[in-house]
Amino acid sequence: MSSKVCIAVHGGAGVLDQNEMDEELKKLYGEGLSLAVQKGHQILLNGGSAIDAVASAVTALEDNPLFNAGRGSVFTFEGKQEMDASLMDGSNFKAGSVAMVRNVRNPIQLARKVMDESPYVLLAGTGAEEFAKSKDLPFEPDSYFFNEKRYKQWQAVKDSGFHRLDDRAPKNLGTVGAVALDQKGNLAAGTSTGGMTNKRYGRIGDSPLIGAGTYADNQHCAVSCTGHGEFFIRVVAAYDVVAGMSYGNLTLKESTDLVVMKKLLEMGGEGGLIAIDRSGNIALPFNAEGMYRGWIDLDGVMHVAIYSNELTMNNEQ
Ligand code: ASP
Repeated sequence: MSSKVCIAVHGGAGVLDQNEMDEELKKLYGEGLSLAVQKGHQILLNGGSAIDAVASAVTALEDNPLFNAGRGSVFTFEGKQEMDASLMDGSNFKAGSVAMVRNVRNPIQLARKVMDESPYVLLAGTGAEEFAKSKDLPFEPDSYFFNEKRYKQWQAVKDSGFHRLDDRAPKNLGTVGAVALDQKGNLAAGTSTGGMTNKRYGRIGDSPLIGAGTYADNQHCAVSCTGHGEFFIRVVAAYDVVAGMSYGNLTLKESTDLVVMKKLLEMGGEGGLIAIDRSGNIALPFNAEGMYRGWIDLDGVMHVAIYSNELTMNNEQ
C-alpha cells in the first residue's frame, strides 16, 4: 500500500473570455476549485477510497452556482434545469449514471446510488427521480437552481435554434468532474453537468455516458471530460484514452493529447479532459481557451488554473 494519493477536478472548458474575467470572479472560481479538490484530497489522505473522493469533490462543485452542474446548471429551451451525471470505480468496473434529472440536489449522489444500490448503470428522467425519492435523496425547488447569469445566457441564445455540430459555443458549455488515485492504488472518475444551454428534445450529452464522458480502469487511468458532448460521444473520448494506453502502449500524456489535441480538434470538438494514471501522473489537456481546473499532485502540492496561458493561479499546500 502506497501513501501517495492525488486528485484533479475540472469546472468545465466553457470558460469566460479573459476580458470578462475580473480579479474578484477569478478568485471565486479559484476558491471553488480549491475547496472541491481539497475535500476530495482529505478523504484520500484519511485512507478513503478514490470513488468517495471523486463523489465528494463533484458534490462540492455541484453546490457552487459558478459551475454548470447541480445548483449552477444552465437553462434548457423550456427554461428548466435538466442534469446529467456519472461516476465509475476503476477497481471493479462498477458505474452509475443519471440523465435528464430535475430538482435533484446532487445528481452525482444519485449516480452513486444507481451504482451501489441498483442493478442498473443508467437511469433517466422521471424514473431516475422516482429512484432518488426511494433513496431519500434531497430535492430542491426550482428557485434553488435559478441563477441570473445563466438566465441571461439562455435569453441570449433562446431563439437561435439548434447548435450545429461545427458551432463553437464555449459559453453554452460547462461541466464539473473529478478523478482520483487512492492509497490502495484504486482509480475513480466522476462527471456532472447541466449540459448545453438551450438544449431541447431530451438532448443528453457525453457526461452521463460511461465511455464517452467518464471512465476508470485501475490498470490504466481515470478520465472525466468536458466540452461539446456530441463530439465526445462520437469519439468515445474517455474510453479512447484508456484504449490508447491499453492497445497502443501510449503514456497518459500521449493518449490524452491524441484524443483532445488531435482527434477531437480535427473534428471541431471543443473541450478537454482531466486524467490520472495508476502511477499518479496527471494530464489536463484542453483545446479551448481555457478549462477551470485544480489538482493536488503526489507531493501534496495544490494547483489551480483557468486559461492556457497560465500554468497555475496559485501554489498553496
Ligand atoms: N459535455 C457537456 C455536454 O455536452 C457539456 C460540457 O462539458 O461543457 O453536455
